[in-house]
Amino acid sequence: MSARRFILLGPPGAGKGTQSQRLVSDLGLPQISTGDLLRAARKAGTVLGLKAQGFMDAGQLVPDALIFELVEERLAQADAAAGYILDGFPRNVAQADEMARRGIVVDRVVLMEVPTEALVARLSGRRVCGQCAATYHAEAFPTRVEGVCDACGGVVSQRKDDTAEVVSQRLDVYARETSPLIAYYSSVGSLRRVDGFESTEKVYASIMTALSA
Ligand code: AMP
Repeated sequence: MSARRFILLGPPGAGKGTQSQRLVSDLGLPQISTGDLLRAARKAGTVLGLKAQGFMDAGQLVPDALIFELVEERLAQADAAAGYILDGFPRNVAQADEMARRGIVVDRVVLMEVPTEALVARLSGRRVCGQCAATYHAEAFPTRVEGVCDACGGVVSQRKDDTAEVVSQRLDVYARETSPLIAYYSSVGSLRRVDGFESTEKVYASIMTALSA
């Protein structure tokens, strides 16, 4: 039986969002991406969104209290009762400890490993649809019409935090704050490693194996 409450762990640009999209439709589980929830809060102009924006634009982590407010609200929705794909959360050991305290269960943690040089190229070329969140790459996977989403016709642009300077800051934050989660989940036996530097198809197959093994 496949794990149904799991974390996709990995640096920014590892392909967590891309893989989540397919996992959502194949497994029928919701993807809970704290980055997407934060971007939606900003777009909606909520107080939480306003508090988060400075941290996000600087490539820093948003305070844990704000993250738990968003996550708890999302997990309380009916579609999360049978399981969930956590993407970009937890982001540090304090969040992982707090999850355990709040009874947010995780059966499996899938670590997507990609070399740092590839992450920089992926992130700086990444373009995202502001409407449906489909992702493209300026060179490797451009939209058919520049700036227009192939899927929904929405406006496709670069995320503010995908610029070279902020990308290097985000990778530093990952190394310092998030990567200790690898040892954390390894020690409890729930971690599985996947080579994220393969084709989307191969990575997907490895994730499915990691969820069942
Ligand atoms: P992401 O889309 O996962 O790359 O997240 C974009 C930005 O949102 C990050 O650089 C952080 O500023 C913030 N963020 C997303 N998830 C978290 C989290 N779990 N904890 C703290 N900050 C987060």
